[in-house]
Amino acid sequence: MLDQGLKNQLSQLLDLMEGDVVFKVSTGTDETSQKMSDLVNEVAEMSPRITVEQTELKRSPSFSVNRPGENTGITFAGVPLGHEFNSFVLALLQVSGRAPKEEQSVIDQIKGINDTLHFETFVSLTCQKCPDVVQALNLMSVINPNITHTMIDGAVFKEEAEDIMAVPSIFLNGEQFGSGRMTVTDILSELGQGPDASEFEDKGLFDVLVVGGGPASASSAIYAARKGLHTGIVADRIGGQVNDTQDIENLISVKKTTGTTLATNLEEHIKDYNIDVMKGVLAESLNKTDDHIEITLNNGATLRTKTLIVSTGARWRQLGVPGEQEFANKGVAYCPHCDGPLFEDKDVAVVGGGNSGVEAAIDLAGICKSVTLLEFGAEMRADKVLQERLHSLSNTTVITNAATKEITGDDRVTGLTYEDMQSNVQKQLDLDGVFVQIGLSPNTEWLGDTVSRNKMGEIEVDRLGATNVPGIFAAGDCTDQRYKQIIISMGSGATAALSAFDYLIRN
Ligand code: FAD
Repeated sequence: MLDQGLKNQLSQLLDLMEGDVVFKVSTGTDETSQKMSDLVNEVAEMSPRITVEQTELKRSPSFSVNRPGENTGITFAGVPLGHEFNSFVLALLQVSGRAPKEEQSVIDQIKGINDTLHFETFVSLTCQKCPDVVQALNLMSVINPNITHTMIDGAVFKEEAEDIMAVPSIFLNGEQFGSGRMTVTDILSELGQGPDASEFEDKGLFDVLVVGGGPASASSAIYAARKGLHTGIVADRIGGQVNDTQDIENLISVKKTTGTTLATNLEEHIKDYNIDVMKGVLAESLNKTDDHIEITLNNGATLRTKTLIVSTGARWRQLGVPGEQEFANKGVAYCPHCDGPLFEDKDVAVVGGGNSGVEAAIDLAGICKSVTLLEFGAEMRADKVLQERLHSLSNTTVITNAATKEITGDDRVTGLTYEDMQSNVQKQLDLDGVFVQIGLSPNTEWLGDTVSRNKMGEIEVDRLGATNVPGIFAAGDCTDQRYKQIIISMGSGATAALSAFDYLIRN
């Protein structure tokens, strides 16, 4: 099942096992059961520490990863290959006793959960965001015996996954819990186990407080810390949109990386400096007093700082038409890389004819039966090379001058209504899914009336990253800088930090 290169890597990893592990396997007579057995047996044969037992689990084929005499609650339903192979290997190492890399405060929060929590995550093996969720929940299961987690490959358990239109889709005790990438911190915060306000009581007065956790924040904080300033970061998670990105090939000097790797590298780089990282919380409001700035967080804590760098980035922009909210994760999707495989052999539309829309349509055309791209304007705005590639595909159609009016359906998407802007006639498309690709909205609502923004909600900054409020700077995708890219966000983060330093030595 595994090629020689992978086996060599795996063999080195298996040497890191610290204790014995038992795979409990539940199989049927189908082909996938055979595949799963082959994988599990092949891995077991590579280490004397691993044994395999036959058992009956809720789903077949599936297997659980346990310590001898102790069930950890980690189960893989399907064959954890593709992007989930790492989750399998990591679970194996952690169950064997390898210490998790999480901070002690996070481990303590996980240990502090007394409720019985049964998580199930539907994944696709091509989804890049899914392993983060699977690995986070597996880790929680390893640490706390009250928690169990099953990864379910939607492509194998098709009937169960029939209503799942976006992966990862996470269920807790049978109820929908979340969707999209979630880290341990996100899950803890969703469970109401985020950091307590009391943990923030003695933070004192920061020189520079950075709000946000993306590339702009990382760069701002590192530049500020390198100036010897007392620096803090407040963020729900580190990485920002990079966490939702597949491959990155334009971070100059890094020929190719993945979003997950870059997000990890950003966090590692931040850790090299004396930066107070406050994860798992969001800034909720801002108050400027005569001599400092106060930020109130969603756990009720208040932080004080001499200067502030806002780098809260942006999120997928929504169409704002009837049906979009109602059918979110029931056919309305935003991430083609993640959710495309769920629309195999189905008819889908992509709304938006910019680069991201056309790239999405090309990507989906390889999976779906048909892809209809709707562009509001008279022409698509994507690069010519992308348009040519799209037109060369036989299962794609482009409709221009199309204003999306409604996404329709019953318990899931069945169609889309648009207005032909030339004839003013409303038309209907029969569809199984709609991918919205119309750009981004800045995360700036929490700023209230304090900081000037343009009509898109983007913070207005000058070329030094300064806003209209003295001492408050901004960087990255939340600002009115024209181009939204990682390298540009990092550059503007550096500018904002140096400007904050300059402000501090003059005031
Ligand atoms: P973000 O990355 O958006 O980070 C902001 C962070 O702040 C987030 O973690 C957010 O949750 C957090 N936050 C928001 N509100 C609050 C609050 N109130 N309190 C605390 N924290 C908050 N760019 C490239 O250069 N190359 C690419 O290949 C590329 N591909 C992309 C693919 C996709 C699918 C997407 C979505 C974007 C891509 N981009 C790419 C764009 C790039 O990711 C962004 O330009 C970049 O991440 C912006 O960085 P940022 O730090 O400004 O904001």
